[in-house]
Amino acid sequence: MDQANGIAPDIGAAPLAVTPPDVHVEALQRRRRERLKTLPLVVASNTVDGAFLLCFSSLGVIAWHVSAGLLALASGFYGLFFVILRTQFPERLNDHHMVIEQLVVGSIYFGVAMITAPEVSALLMMMPFVSFSFAALRMKTKAIFLGSLALGLYTAAIVAVFGDRISLPAADGTQRALSGLWYLVTLAKVSLIGRHGAALRSMLNEQRVKLSEALAQVERLANYDELTGAMNRRAIMALLSDEQARLRRTSVTFAVALFDIDFFKQVNDRHGHLVGDEVLRRFSQQVAGAIRETDRLARFGGEEFLILMPCTRDKDAATAATRVREAIARVDWGAAAPGLAVTASAGVSVARVDETVEALLDRADKALYEAKKAGRNCICSR
Ligand code: GH3
Ligand code: MG
Ligand code: MG
Repeated sequence: MDQANGIAPDIGAAPLAVTPPDVHVEALQRRRRERLKTLPLVVASNTVDGAFLLCFSSLGVIAWHVSAGLLALASGFYGLFFVILRTQFPERLNDHHMVIEQLVVGSIYFGVAMITAPEVSALLMMMPFVSFSFAALRMKTKAIFLGSLALGLYTAAIVAVFGDRISLPAADGTQRALSGLWYLVTLAKVSLIGRHGAALRSMLNEQRVKLSEALAQVERLANYDELTGAMNRRAIMALLSDEQARLRRTSVTFAVALFDIDFFKQVNDRHGHLVGDEVLRRFSQQVAGAIRETDRLARFGGEEFLILMPCTRDKDAATAATRVREAIARVDWGAAAPGLAVTASAGVSVARVDETVEALLDRADKALYEAKKAGRNCICSR
């Protein structure tokens, strides 16, 4: 009774019901690593912009205290994010990467830079392109549209108030070269981010293919016998109960033939287990070739095979089983082991409306026993 659901009593479902604490901790740590992974890139990007600001200070375009102050502000902002993202706090938010929060802070920095360093403001206006293309990798479409709109309005407000001071440092060749370089570097940043997005997509695709392959493999393992490729007992039992339900509803009957290889133990004893396995494989192939397309074959036990024959009556079931038995006896088994001959016996039963699948199989088993008693290599119906 303990094994009624197929689960041994001491390995029930209980361990799966509770997630072990270390699995949870591991998942949290993985998420933390994931959200900290992109921060160095953001910091590197801001450092490059900071370096350009300092270069422009060295050319006398903007005051040193402005470029140094902006660099310190960026460092402070991202230092703060570094600290927050390392804690468990982001787990309480919808997006533990805090993309929107980083965008808002980035926009504040952008505004401050536009106002305090108007001499390079035409170049600073490229900043949101970088932060937005980066953030968009993790944002939903609606958030991208709303975010773009908000940033557009914000930029428009800055331009409306300080627009007359917006300028591009291009007073001499050095300034023009530095401006061009900053522009190029920004372009490269946006391209690299796009490239990163493409890489993520192809990785995701690869994972999807692998996952569907793994799923197919799991399905194969769950429904088919590994050695013979025939269905396993679990899968055929499901088909049998479907057929039984159909029989009750429509009176369309079905039959089963339970085949058992004769003296199979001797095959193992004389030729070894590997030959025994090979015989099982070939036996399965031969039976599969001898049954109708609509019939189903399963390995029911060690050397027992069950054929399910839908829409089949007494006489037809016995005829079909005899055809299979004769096909097996005709095979040249010498290819598996010299001098080997293999035969099989079967018990055939046609389903009745008022019985269970178990009762049907029990009749087939009894018929098989009679066939063995009758001298083997024969069929008995019951
Ligand atoms: P009978 O004609 O009465 O059916 O005799 P038998 O020897 O076939 O019957 P028995 O049930 O005594 O032997 C079945 C053997 O099948 C015993 C077991 O070792 C062997 N067997 C079960 N599964 C496998 C398998 O996967 N591979 C191999 N090689 N042998 C198997
Ligand atoms: Mg047996
Ligand atoms: Mg046997």
